Amino acid sequence: MSASKQVAVIGAGPAGLMAAEVVSATGVAVTVYERMPSVGRKLLMAGRGGLNLTHSEDYARFVTRYGDANPRLRHALDAFPPSALVAWADGLGQQTFVGSSGRVFPKAMKTSPLLRAWLARLDRQGVKIRTRSEWLGWDGDALRIRCAEGREDRVFADAVVLALGGASWPRLGSNGAWAAVLQSRGVDVAKLQPANCGFTIAWSESFQRFAGNPLKNIALGFEGQTSRGDAVIARYGIEGGAVYALSAQLRDAIAGNGCAVLSIDLRPNLSPAELVRKLSQPQGSQSLTNYLRKAVHLSPPEINLLREVHGASLGRDASALPQQIKSLKLTLTAPQSLDRAISTAGGVSFASLDENLMLKSMPGVFVAGEMLDWEAPTGGYLLQACFATGVAAAKGALNWLGK
Ligand SMILES: Cc1cc2nc3c(=O)[nH]c(=O)nc-3n(C[C@H](O)[C@H](O)[C@H](O)COP(=O)(O)OP(=O)(O)OC[C@H]3O[C@@H](n4cnc5c(N)ncnc54)[C@H](O)[C@@H]3O)c2cc1C
Repeated sequence: MSASKQVAVIGAGPAGLMAAEVVSATGVAVTVYERMPSVGRKLLMAGRGGLNLTHSEDYARFVTRYGDANPRLRHALDAFPPSALVAWADGLGQQTFVGSSGRVFPKAMKTSPLLRAWLARLDRQGVKIRTRSEWLGWDGDALRIRCAEGREDRVFADAVVLALGGASWPRLGSNGAWAAVLQSRGVDVAKLQPANCGFTIAWSESFQRFAGNPLKNIALGFEGQTSRGDAVIARYGIEGGAVYALSAQLRDAIAGNGCAVLSIDLRPNLSPAELVRKLSQPQGSQSLTNYLRKAVHLSPPEINLLREVHGASLGRDASALPQQIKSLKLTLTAPQSLDRAISTAGGVSFASLDENLMLKSMPGVFVAGEMLDWEAPTGGYLLQACFATGVAAAKGALNWLGK
């Protein structure tokens, strides 16, 4: 393929850098434009608590995590499944391991060694990265790029990969400003909404002092869906992995009904009968707090959560206690704002794209990553789809150039 062909990739997150790698590996010249002073800021942030690259569960189960978008993402995921991502990381000297929950992490846990090795590879492949270069849209066929000096350049490319991310955590670079640009060009963009986010609860002032405390090994239930794991009490409400897993359903229910009632089982590992047995000893002269702490090992935040929800009725009738512990009802009134969410739902609709992730209305322009209209829970599913669609958009661009 001719080395004189030029591909512009907009956005230096995992999707854009992956597209740059795949295209440049064929000898095609690639320039990546990134609005921030450095690349991969969200990817680096993702590595703060351990970079969860993908998930090791059975692939048939894995793809169901993308819900309605599963059939649309399938082509990209099948071509670059979790095993390919693990092999890719390995190729960068970043061996992975499977955590107890089935999540896959690099052994180094952090992003920086992987990103360093990746950037070195991209450099060897001749990829040019222009930071402080913000894409503003098009002027005719030219890309409008605002440079650090405030100058606006006109850039021509034979193919373009847009990988601008969603709209969460805008201080890391992806701010969703692209949505208006694409809509003005007739591209259908589903509303950008918070995904994997916390929810507002009208806690009493006294309960807010438990903000920051975890609720460990709980089970959450909403409309027949359950999620096990940890949540965290926040001043504004509740957040954490177990909540994020249900966040799409909760968010949509709140949009429809104004609120959603989340059910919490504080002791999912104890059957109702076991709980009844453990609580069969009379409370005697012990305070209720001491009694619950000793009998079922409830922590102070858990006991205060029970008080917050059940009020004075907590413990008045000992026979009601097991049910009160296993079925706490919390009324959620709003999702956290998009800029605090882990990821973004909505984005460029798949109906606007052909099977190569090319915009039907803009031949030669491809889209990858979180800016596409899909969502998934945390657990490695987000990065997996970003990398896989980066590969797919790059292959689409190469096909296009091959024409
Ligand atoms: C705190 C946190 C932890 C996370 N942890 C995990 C995890 O462990 N596992 C997981 O799977 N996912 C995780 N995620 C999600 C994951 O990081 C994202 O889904 C992923 O980074 C999205 O990749 P992307 O390439 O599509 O977009 P981004 O990573 O957002 O990259 C897009 C890039 O485009 C640039 N850009 C935007 N607009 C312009 C413009 N106009 N011109 C030029 N450049 C532009 C941005 O500055 C940015 O660098 C986490 C997210 C957060 C916030």
